[in-house]
Amino acid sequence: MQKLKENKSCLLLFSGGIDSTVLLYHLLHEGYEVIPLTVNFNGRNYKELEAVKRILKLIGISNFLEIDLPFIKEFVSLKEEFLKNYDGKFLNVKGYYIPLRNMIFVSIAAYFAEIYSIPKIFSGHTAEDVNKLPDVNIKFVNAINEALYEGSYAGKILGLKYEMPFLKLSKLDIARLAVKYSVPLKYTWSCYNSFEEHCEFCDGCKNRNLFFYFASKINK
Ligand SMILES: [Zn+2]
Repeated sequence: MQKLKENKSCLLLFSGGIDSTVLLYHLLHEGYEVIPLTVNFNGRNYKELEAVKRILKLIGISNFLEIDLPFIKEFVSLKEEFLKNYDGKFLNVKGYYIPLRNMIFVSIAAYFAEIYSIPKIFSGHTAEDVNKLPDVNIKFVNAINEALYEGSYAGKILGLKYEMPFLKLSKLDIARLAVKYSVPLKYTWSCYNSFEEHCEFCDGCKNRNLFFYFASKINK
């Protein structure tokens, strides 16, 4: 009997930032056929999407999914809109968090996984995100996988699983991987502003610079 070829295709939630780009290189190194999925939510920095396209072109991946979700916004934009248009209580969450982001994005990825028989969905969250975001932790991942098993053909037939392979990795660990795989870090985008270059002052840039510092130490 001919042995069935192992299905190494996967979907990657890909933002064009450092973590998801390092994960893209890691998955390719592990032999995966990666189909990146990027989401254009309302207010997304267009520089991120430019980074996505630049990196994929460099690697030679032309098969990627670009999903427009114009009704999805980060809390910073929602608050402004809410205060202008509605009475009542606004859940006061600070920053660039998108409500139920991973549940929504993974569900969309699972939709395509079921159609195209793709058994894995990955996202590049790291240990640093665990305390910052409510949907980055192993219990959430397990709950999603249970829902995928109970609620989809892909879960039962393909064993579709969602994974965060970097969940226990620190910024330094990611920097090590970036150096190992020669990830073109300059092509990624981290800034919350959309100037031509990184602003160097926002939290995204501060984290980026710290990451580059780690990576430069590893190079030596
Ligand atoms: Zn910045």
